Amino acid sequence: MKRVYNFSPGPSVLPLPVLEKAAAEMSDANGSGQSVMEMSHRSKDFKSIIEKTEALLRELMGIPPNYKVLFLQGGASLQFSMIPLNLAAETGGGGKKAAYIETGIWADKAAKEAAKFTGVEVRASSKDRAYTYIPKAPAPEPGDAYYHITLNNTIVGTKWAEIPDTGKVPLVADISSNILSEPLDVSRFGLLYAGAQKNLGPAGTAVVIIREDLIGRAAGKTPAMLRYDIHAGEGSMYNTPPCYGIYIIGLVMEWLKNLGGVEAIARLNREKAGLFYQYLESSKLFYSPVEKNSRSLMNIPFVSRVEDPEKRAGLESRFVKEAAASGLVNLAGHRLVGGMRASIYNAMPIEGVKALIQFMEKFEQA
Ligand SMILES: *Cc1c(COP(=O)(O)O)cnc(C)c1O
Repeated sequence: MKRVYNFSPGPSVLPLPVLEKAAAEMSDANGSGQSVMEMSHRSKDFKSIIEKTEALLRELMGIPPNYKVLFLQGGASLQFSMIPLNLAAETGGGGKKAAYIETGIWADKAAKEAAKFTGVEVRASSKDRAYTYIPKAPAPEPGDAYYHITLNNTIVGTKWAEIPDTGKVPLVADISSNILSEPLDVSRFGLLYAGAQKNLGPAGTAVVIIREDLIGRAAGKTPAMLRYDIHAGEGSMYNTPPCYGIYIIGLVMEWLKNLGGVEAIARLNREKAGLFYQYLESSKLFYSPVEKNSRSLMNIPFVSRVEDPEKRAGLESRFVKEAAASGLVNLAGHRLVGGMRASIYNAMPIEGVKALIQFMEKFEQA
């Protein structure tokens, strides 16, 4: 068997023990005589899988009892519309508005999509410096239906160092690329959401964690599939849920719990990112374009110091190719920002980060 070190931003590396367990259970899961893919979602066997997955997620994240956990489809991107449809419905004559902080391409997409359903006000942006920092978050305004941030910005490699205090206005956060990477005080948020394919499991499932008082406010004509109240009322089983994805998320949760939970993985993540940033600081060829106090633990973009744009592009594409030939794959930066990026999610072992640094040192020397 051959395994590469996969630095993909998503879908991304999964823990090998999870893949091996899934393989072992592929045709007979838990003595049921069936694959999880073949099971009725209403069966006892699947019920125990979804319940276990939710219980482990609650335990690992410390989700308070007054929050619902939903397993939905449509990725993180469908939440860009579900959030305004459910939390900022126009009632009577009074139009609602929502606050957005623009910290990158995903945050911008979220705001633009929301603007189809509610008034959107972008209260701060870091676009002026190519999103390489987290701007200061202004206080919410009275009448804001919610306040939306992207806690970790996957493409540009920034992270909010502090969670803004939005008082009574529900704070909504996209945590697609940093869920379970560090402890997070769920009670500070009204709603958290994440596409699974970065730190949770395979693509096809989105996890929504929503405070119960925010459920049941959907706009009248909201399609059933887009209503939190319907999904919450049916335990994520209004229709067939993404069963296999939920099962894999459950295995990832088990793996994480065995490792010591979120505190333990956070220590490891800080060590991994620390090594990599330290190397970038000392490198004469590569550097991090991101401001120090806004740096992500999960996604680390880097660029070369070569000034001539053509030479730089040539060198960077050679870097990505040679790294791949050495078993270090998916290091190209996002198509919109260029350069390189190493995504080092929970499942990336520290050996992978060390191997990447070693490769970069050699490349730099050559
Ligand atoms: C990947 C990503 C998305 C998009 O996720 P999909 O599941 O593909 O819709 C949204 N926000 C952030 C922060 C992401 O990293």
